[in-house]
Amino acid sequence: MQPIQDIFPLLSQPRRVVVTMHQKPDADAMGSVLGLQHFLVQMGHQVQVISPTNWARWLDWMPGVDAVLDYELHRAKSDEYMEAAEWIFCLDFNHLARTKGMAKKLAEVAAQKILIDHHEQPYMVQFAYGISSPGKSSTCEMVYDLIVESGHRDKINKPVSECLYAGIVSDTGSFRFSSTGASVHHMVAYLKEMGLEHAKVHESLFDNFLENRLRFLGHILTNRMEVDYLNNTALVYITRQDLYKYDIKTGDTEGIVNYPLSIQGIKLVGFVVDRDELRKWSFRSKGAFDCNTFARTYFNGGGHYNAAGGHDHESLEKTIQSFKKAISENEHLLQ
Ligand code: 5GP
Ligand code: MN
Repeated sequence: MQPIQDIFPLLSQPRRVVVTMHQKPDADAMGSVLGLQHFLVQMGHQVQVISPTNWARWLDWMPGVDAVLDYELHRAKSDEYMEAAEWIFCLDFNHLARTKGMAKKLAEVAAQKILIDHHEQPYMVQFAYGISSPGKSSTCEMVYDLIVESGHRDKINKPVSECLYAGIVSDTGSFRFSSTGASVHHMVAYLKEMGLEHAKVHESLFDNFLENRLRFLGHILTNRMEVDYLNNTALVYITRQDLYKYDIKTGDTEGIVNYPLSIQGIKLVGFVVDRDELRKWSFRSKGAFDCNTFARTYFNGGGHYNAAGGHDHESLEKTIQSFKKAISENEHLLQ
């Protein structure tokens, strides 16, 4: 993988570009992709955004989201764009497998793939150019750096600012995680100087749910949370029946994993959703517990030190047992 700086001189030559992100994009994935798109369009490129899957409805306010192709719904058209592309930017993931059904096509096409990502242990051989910075708060911050370092700070207009701010605010837990470096605050100060209405973005992201999601949250915290004080760990599980009963859609379960971390002494949260084809895990920790290694070791996953995910093809009961066994094997790290 050649350094991302090598493409800077090429940014002023118009190209056919595809920009994509990990499946079930969150605010950082969607925000970084759309922020980059708005920048590249101003530089004269033809840009198509393709999402590997659908996304949460609370991202639909983002400027440019209407033109995003959902690969699962528009496969043939998306394949055409990827076949014709000269560059494919791959944002907020570290391995093509994170693009689910798109991974095969991405691997096949002739376009040069360019990685911009902040997850641990990227699989660099899949990319021609790129940058991987696990220390960075978010992929949105990295897109901001790319725009500034390539000499085009003047292209940071309102749509770019709103998209990038959305990813920053969500991946830093509203500026509270330790990944929130001084560079994040400098960046946000600049966006504010350029006229960003941050309260509007925050509201669009966090005060934009339907009533059912709040009732669901109450049910989950009351009936589906187990706290293991001996190992400073909490487990939250969501059954298929819960999803059905509360009409839970993509994105509605996001963020719930963080609630048990607010309990005094809790260092690790495991959160599992019984989705159709697999049991999807999220892990969050406070302080010195490595979620990335935990997710890789026990649940075919990965991510960051304090936030990672994974999956299991076993039943909900079995995967919960596996989690409890994994906790007992890690009890020395959780004291
Ligand atoms: P979440 O729990 O919000 O789905 O994900 C937490 C972090 O871990 C995100 O940065 C996400 O991209 C990453 N992640 C989630 N699931 C997986 C997975 O199955 N494999 C890998 N490598 N990373 C994951
Ligand atoms: Mn991210």
